[in-house]
Amino acid sequence: MNRLIPIAIALSCALAGPAAHAALKALACEPEWGALVQELACDKASVYVATTGLQDPHHIQARPSLVAAARSTDLIVCTGAELEVGWLPVLIRQSGNSAIQPGKPGNFEAAAHVRKLEVPDRLDRADGDVHAAGNPHIQTDPRNILLVAEPLAQRLSELDAANAATYRARAADFTARWKAAIARWDKEAAPLRGTPIVVQHKAFPYLEQWLGLVQVAALEPKPGIEPTSAHLSEVLAGLQTRPAKMIVRAAYNDGRGSEWLAERTKLPIVVLPFTVGGDDQAKDLFSLFDDTVQRLLKALP
Ligand SMILES: [Zn+2]
Repeated sequence: MNRLIPIAIALSCALAGPAAHAALKALACEPEWGALVQELACDKASVYVATTGLQDPHHIQARPSLVAAARSTDLIVCTGAELEVGWLPVLIRQSGNSAIQPGKPGNFEAAAHVRKLEVPDRLDRADGDVHAAGNPHIQTDPRNILLVAEPLAQRLSELDAANAATYRARAADFTARWKAAIARWDKEAAPLRGTPIVVQHKAFPYLEQWLGLVQVAALEPKPGIEPTSAHLSEVLAGLQTRPAKMIVRAAYNDGRGSEWLAERTKLPIVVLPFTVGGDDQAKDLFSLFDDTVQRLLKALP
């Protein structure tokens, strides 16, 4: 599960040939950024992804195979905003790769290009895994993907100037296709507006903001702490006065807390892919959001 997984080459790239002679090596911390590099670079870059859609990106081991990949890469593309604070600094240090150190062109932080939600006024370890930089789960709003695509394409051009024209052209092509897709998702998802939801982890504020979902409770008593029976009982009681229509969790979450609540409330559980590869339908960035919207719509009463 923890192995490096080469991202499947997107269909639109297939005709361009294999990435065996790619000029640039990229390492993505999460599948969504691996998929985005693939969209922008096609056969010009080879992409390895450090995690799968079924792994918790907060908690990854900097295994020897991953360190080896980091040692030889030209570029790392990670979420940042402290999502990988538990493993990325170790990985970068152990790689001994000067090109990917923080602040270097070979180190790209996606969240730096997005306006973060839930930036805390104060930091207290007692509040759980609260991130000083705000909520790092930016990939659940497709508009954030757009904000990351342009600077990422620029970074690819900077690191691989010989192929800059390709990166620019692919970024323009991706932007056009992505904007059209967002317009379609906006229309399809309109019935979801105002829907109250229970979430497992506070992983969806960007999705909520985009689609107008209203989070009324979280199953984790504090971010990063597994649901306890005491807290689940509180959530159940709270739903009497503030009812919800569905329970939403990411594919990588343990399902027991949501099943407990679903049994007692008869609410549907929506397991969202959360990233590319989170389920069989989410094969690339486009199908990730196709599937996300469809799963939410299917749970509407
Ligand atoms: Zn989180």
